[in-house]
Amino acid sequence: MTSGTLNYIRFWGVRGSYPAPFGSHMRVGGNTSCVELQADNHILICDGGSGIIPLGQHLIQQQEIKELTILLTHYHWDHISGLPFFVPAFIPGWKLNFYGPGDNQQEIEQRVSGQMIDPYFPIEAETWLADVHFLQAHNNQLEYGPFKIEPFFVHHPGSTFGYRIQVHDKTIIYASDNELPFVDNFMGERLNKMKPDELKLFKAMQIEEKARYIELINNAHIFIHDAQYTPEDYAKKRGWGHSCYLDTTNFAIEANVKQLYLFHVDPNYNDNKVEELHCNTLKFIDKHQSNMGCHIAREGLIVSIDKL
Ligand SMILES: [Zn+2]
Ligand SMILES: [Zn+2]
Repeated sequence: MTSGTLNYIRFWGVRGSYPAPFGSHMRVGGNTSCVELQADNHILICDGGSGIIPLGQHLIQQQEIKELTILLTHYHWDHISGLPFFVPAFIPGWKLNFYGPGDNQQEIEQRVSGQMIDPYFPIEAETWLADVHFLQAHNNQLEYGPFKIEPFFVHHPGSTFGYRIQVHDKTIIYASDNELPFVDNFMGERLNKMKPDELKLFKAMQIEEKARYIELINNAHIFIHDAQYTPEDYAKKRGWGHSCYLDTTNFAIEANVKQLYLFHVDPNYNDNKVEELHCNTLKFIDKHQSNMGCHIAREGLIVSIDKL
């Protein structure tokens, strides 16, 4: 399609929490979570933050692909606030398939359309002219064209998914909001007050958490993960459901990830700060004698899936 690369990942929104359209933030980007994956003329979109607005404008420039599948990690504003302004939804002939946390398709529908009701928004999702569907996973799997998708629960307030996506023999993990390692960082604070049986349970949870994530993430070609805070800011925000970038990096090394993308960075961090954190991450990787690649997920960045 229009990107010039056949099968690719493109970052349309990379910020955590709220849009940050400030001059000091433009090298990294100010829009909230939205990542496009395109393979074999199928488009998969992860999250509908403000980044989905320019993606919508981009998509209507072409005629080839008019069906989209949108995976939502959860329904916090920074992941859905672009949907009311997503132009393909308002054009007949387009087909949109949504998936996200929820007990059934109706619940997903309510959560997607809930932000577009009076008095919060002037037009309801019912006015969308596209053919809109809400998907259901079978055996915790979804398939869309060449994409095989497995949702998994992450540590973030409410029900939140990460997605393990396989395409062309490549594994891509998208986990925008996730606190790692949650059991260690959050529960570990109570370690001294634990009774022996509680301590035993804690150790079991610690092992289980690590094993579960390692199994999901192991050998991933691309790991797009929450890297919201510095260690200093994380210390003030334990249990908020976001990771310190060094914890994310440490986990990625342990899981033998090939390329890490630091994502959902704090909107308070300007370009210089994010680039400084990236430098620290590269030193950390070097110190751990790992050859993992590490990048800032910058708005507009395109990564070829074929060349991974
Ligand atoms: Zn978020
Ligand atoms: Zn959230």
